[in-house]
Amino acid sequence: MATTSGMSSAETIDLFRRYVVPNYTRFPINLVRGEGSYVWDAEGTRYLDLFPGWGCNLLGHCPAPIVRAVQEQVATLIHVPNTWYTEAQGQWARLLSERSFGGQAFFCNSGTEANEAAIKLARLHTPKERYKIITFSGGFHGRTLGATAATAQPKYHEGLGPLMAGFVYAPYGDLEAVTKLVDGETAAILVEPIQGEGGIRIPPDGFLAGLRELADEHGLLLMFDEVQSGCGRTGNWFAYQDVNVVPDVMTLAKSLCGGIAGGALLTKPEIAPSLRPGMHAATFGGNPIAARVGIATIEMIEQENLLENVATISGVFRQRLNELAESCETIVEVRIRGMMIGIELTVPGAPLVQAAIDRKLLINCTQGTVIRLLPAMNLTVEQAHEACDLLGELLTQAAPGGNGN
Ligand SMILES: *Cc1c(COP(=O)(O)O)cnc(C)c1O
Repeated sequence: MATTSGMSSAETIDLFRRYVVPNYTRFPINLVRGEGSYVWDAEGTRYLDLFPGWGCNLLGHCPAPIVRAVQEQVATLIHVPNTWYTEAQGQWARLLSERSFGGQAFFCNSGTEANEAAIKLARLHTPKERYKIITFSGGFHGRTLGATAATAQPKYHEGLGPLMAGFVYAPYGDLEAVTKLVDGETAAILVEPIQGEGGIRIPPDGFLAGLRELADEHGLLLMFDEVQSGCGRTGNWFAYQDVNVVPDVMTLAKSLCGGIAGGALLTKPEIAPSLRPGMHAATFGGNPIAARVGIATIEMIEQENLLENVATISGVFRQRLNELAESCETIVEVRIRGMMIGIELTVPGAPLVQAAIDRKLLINCTQGTVIRLLPAMNLTVEQAHEACDLLGELLTQAAPGGNGN
């Protein structure tokens, strides 16, 4: 019988070589267990994980309230379709609405799906001649074809053309350029309030507020992709609250369900009916397990005061990494908003990621030269210091003239 008990990393890698489509670049490590900000591999090695679940595990690995919620729900009702009502989906929508802008929710299973729903909603809600959506260079919106077309990064388009028509790309942070792109066919603006995959890019002050004004002036929907920045990661429930600019549509996924798959679109009540019956659906969307866990995620964040913890832990990273940046010539810039941390380097980041693994620390590199950390919001102060100590050593060694790789 095929089970998952006891294979070594090498044996597991062999299974993948034969049976799994090789569309990911993977590190040769087979992870078997996680707890908080630690994960263990099949050989028993423990790693401090500063990138848990690629941004999905904002509560760390296997948070107890989430484990409990799944166990209870899975024994009660696993799945029913959206031809019926479930209290859990309704309560989940209410909790999200009350913590955001009082809107209504459409549930799906991933970030890219949430953005597909947003793209359809933009076209359905605005007059027929309006179909264009302005998106931004360096942005990332997912891997389905609509979201791929919305993602203004040529490397993700190679070989896939012709792409879905109607996306217009603007430089991120350049309000004037956006203004020039708006015409009678523009339906919406889709933007990450902080670019994640693009390298933890925080737009200049006033940029998002300027987009809000522009959208109001021309009758466009302002749509924020908060798949990475949302659900508590910045220390507010949503990154739009950091800057007090309320969108018309917001998309969520990644950490929405404490590590279980789930996605959502939230929109204002006057816009929501445009996604009318028959025009959009997701079979698994808002299923009882995702809904129960979505509720448990919000409850855990509130009961454990984790939004406040984000401010504390973020402060440790800010102080330590800025100190490091002063002495370390490899660091160009440190960008931090809550538990979104980018360290831009003068050198490629990949060797540093490998060196970190060798020291039992898991980090990420994006855009070639940006070290990206998306730590769990319940990381401890001690763990944050431990991580910064290690990063300091690794970055100092990586400096030209240092004795590292
Ligand atoms: C990860 C991400 C997505 C895609 O989410 P999936 O769940 O992988 O489809 C979309 N937008 C942003 C901002 C993301 O970070």
